[in-house]
Amino acid sequence: MGKDQVISMKIDSIPNELQFAIDLMAGCATITRNVQQQHITKQDKVDRSPVTIADYAVQAYVAQAIGKKFPNDKLVGEENSDLLGQDLNLLAAVTQQIQNLLSNADAEQVCEWIDRGQGQPQGRYWVLDPVDGTKGFLRRMQYATALALIEDGEVILGVVGCPELEFDGQTGVIAYAYRGQGAWWKSYDPKSEAKPLHVSTIDSLEKVRLLRSFEDSHTDSSRIQDFVSKGGIKADPVRMDSQAKYVLLAAGKAELMMRLVSPEKAGYHEYIWDHAPGYRVLLEAGGKITDSDGKALDFTTGRRLTDNRGIFVSNGLIHDEALKTLHQT
Ligand code: AMP
Ligand code: MG
Repeated sequence: MGKDQVISMKIDSIPNELQFAIDLMAGCATITRNVQQQHITKQDKVDRSPVTIADYAVQAYVAQAIGKKFPNDKLVGEENSDLLGQDLNLLAAVTQQIQNLLSNADAEQVCEWIDRGQGQPQGRYWVLDPVDGTKGFLRRMQYATALALIEDGEVILGVVGCPELEFDGQTGVIAYAYRGQGAWWKSYDPKSEAKPLHVSTIDSLEKVRLLRSFEDSHTDSSRIQDFVSKGGIKADPVRMDSQAKYVLLAAGKAELMMRLVSPEKAGYHEYIWDHAPGYRVLLEAGGKITDSDGKALDFTTGRRLTDNRGIFVSNGLIHDEALKTLHQT
């Protein structure tokens, strides 16, 4: 792809689906910011992971928009309405958030929209993490709304909206990419100009800036520490929630991100919504992504990446050396 073609995508030829996904991010951030300002209350799902009004409201909002614009497309989303059926106060609070954007919406419709996220991950489908890094959202740190489109196992596009990420002195970054057309970011201001994303050119392991989950339980912290020592990496790993980590790597502000299977959850396989959006952004920015065994990610296996173990992301230049070092730990 020549430089001119990339620039033309920036100006006037953004594919329909990508423009649609970018445009949705403003409404999603309105919901998450409102919930943060008003009343974040957390519930625990059956698997004990946290969920808030914002997770449900963003999924409902995105699902209804996809249904309107692309009625034949399926959605695979993180949430379902099971808890809302048992907690009418929670359902009322979610409905209220949706009504700020869609005044005629009612509670029954909201549940129906959320449950559209139970689509079959086959053929062509959208993938949504409405609030990725819910724990970061609760502690008012980083979180993202992450949306991808997959066709026959190929991630066609990815959009990662990070309302709390700061680039160039502005708070709020929407990173986006379409297969073969580069990666870009803009702020949440609709008039803001798109700027290209490129990974960094650092090629020495000791200079690497490493990103990892904030939560110890999402990774293998002691192996990460061993890796840092073995690789002679000078900077301390930076802890951060959500796919904002992919965006930092794509922007050249870090070189490595790893997610190692936690010893307490040895059978864990990653969910597609935690990676598909960031995956496309990172690849188009020139980075490389495999699992922690060096295998390509396989998005044909359903809601989880069952043929992969862990995730290993880099600027490309230090990928093989870093993986080799990891496998010495
Ligand atoms: P992060 O903020 O990068 O740690 O990623 C947040 C995501 O981690 C959540 O959306 C969960 O789907 C996922 N998650 C939950 N438990 C685990 C676990 N044991 N190992 C890896 N990821 C997990
Ligand atoms: Mg998530």
